[in-house]
Amino acid sequence: PKARVVVVGGGYGGAIAAKYLKLADPDIRVTLIERSPYYVSCPLSNEVISGERDIDSLTFDYRGLTRRGVAVMQDEIVAVDPEAHYVRGAGGARYNYDKLILAPGVSFDYDPIDGMSEAVAESTIPHAWKAGAQTLLLRRQLQAMPDGGVVAIVAPPNPFRCPPGPYERAAQMALYFKHHKPKAKILILDAKDAFSKQALFQAGWQEHYGDMIEWVPGAAGGIIEAVDPKTRTLTGLVEDFQADVVNLIPHQRAAKLAVDAGLTDAAGWCPVDQQTFASEQAPDIHVIGDAAIAGAMPKSGYAANSQGKVCAAAVAAAINGEPPPAPSYVNTCYSILAHDHGISVAGVYELKDGNIVSVPGAGGLSPVDADARTRAMEVEYAIGWFRNITADMFT
Ligand code: FAD
Repeated sequence: PKARVVVVGGGYGGAIAAKYLKLADPDIRVTLIERSPYYVSCPLSNEVISGERDIDSLTFDYRGLTRRGVAVMQDEIVAVDPEAHYVRGAGGARYNYDKLILAPGVSFDYDPIDGMSEAVAESTIPHAWKAGAQTLLLRRQLQAMPDGGVVAIVAPPNPFRCPPGPYERAAQMALYFKHHKPKAKILILDAKDAFSKQALFQAGWQEHYGDMIEWVPGAAGGIIEAVDPKTRTLTGLVEDFQADVVNLIPHQRAAKLAVDAGLTDAAGWCPVDQQTFASEQAPDIHVIGDAAIAGAMPKSGYAANSQGKVCAAAVAAAINGEPPPAPSYVNTCYSILAHDHGISVAGVYELKDGNIVSVPGAGGLSPVDADARTRAMEVEYAIGWFRNITADMFT
């Protein structure tokens, strides 16, 4: 083969980078290494928590990528050697590369909140910020909660995966409670004082769920310092909160692999060249998706998809001795607030003086005063978006 490219992580970023490298140049040998035999999508997983959807509908395997000529290996990568150009699997396997693309997603930092740990998240206080077992655990906790109970969603500081996610989750929980536990209450205890699509969310919550959802901004006491997993008491900076179910979404940083490989900055994210996604720390290693710092782009699945395509084109060009093509980047994030109520934020981005910046006038939010038909259509668009992007990844 012409060159060997190893992609680590088969999610929204990595699956796309692997596929589009093969499309750009079939002579490149592409190996995708993913620790899990299947992928569970975070997008639409808030609908699993509300019981609107089965987790099987979010679960995909890698046969489609194999059919496209990508060598898919199930392994956990535990080390990167940037000098010798190889990555090492948990069992000792060595995968040599000419170019490496890392798309490993985020990891969770439990330290800022006393009482939290991975073991607590897995057993009692699920974050469900990686779709799978914790998504189902949170669902069961809502089902077991008495009517009149309180759910506390603890929302993390910026930057984090899926900025509208905690607020869509509150709406999906309310959708379930409205029909099954109408006296329930949802408290969002936020480390921040503002959030994505805020005016649209707050109007939608009010319209469908009245006062069921209460948002407590950081400045009003929303910052949480500790949690007692036994009593489900949350210690805030100003006051304490008592809940029946706690969904604490931890502080985040790049996945452990990226941190261990020395590819992160002091804040825990990977600085990269904004045109090629080449790491500023290591030549021949590219980082895309949630783990990377990508200018004005949010940490979303669609952003990871867009970055995967830009990166694949740049890597294929480099292998063929060509300059990287001029990039264009895109993102849309839909949120489903009720059966007939969707909202979205869209952005188109360009490279300017080495930075990824929004193209003025090319994006925006759903109108605040949209009619009922538009809100209902946005639910259709959200589901259509999911079908298209997962078909792009896995077929
Ligand atoms: P991931 O998709 O997390 O993929 C990383 C992969 O790498 C994983 O499969 C993991 O197993 C693998 N991996 C990690 N480390 C290793 C290793 N050492 N060895 C082998 N494999 C490894 N985005 C949207 O665009 N739209 C939405 O509507 C939306 N909704 C969301 C709702 C929720 C509740 C959440 C939590 C997120 C949502 N997102 C949404 C965000 C989206 O899920 C992420 O931005 C996206 O998954 C990022 O893609 P990624 O490729 O960087 O990481």
